[in-house]
Amino acid sequence: MKKTYKIDVDCANCANKMEQAAKKTNGVKDATVNFMALKMKVEFEDGADPAAVMQDVLKNCKVVEDDCEIFL
Ligand SMILES: [Zn+2]
Repeated sequence: MKKTYKIDVDCANCANKMEQAAKKTNGVKDATVNFMALKMKVEFEDGADPAAVMQDVLKNCKVVEDDCEIFL
């Protein structure tokens, strides 16, 4: 399953950090951040609960970039 989320982040470098953090989150198969569009596309593992996984993605992104936001 794939979902796209609107995000807020200040620069391409931080967007890249968010992408790496999202990819490392349990339940995420793949993640892509588009800084120009301010969007994050997340592919979930089979059986993962997107709502629960995204809470962890947000938490992990905040660790690497505390100014970022994901609109869940
Ligand atoms: Zn930045």
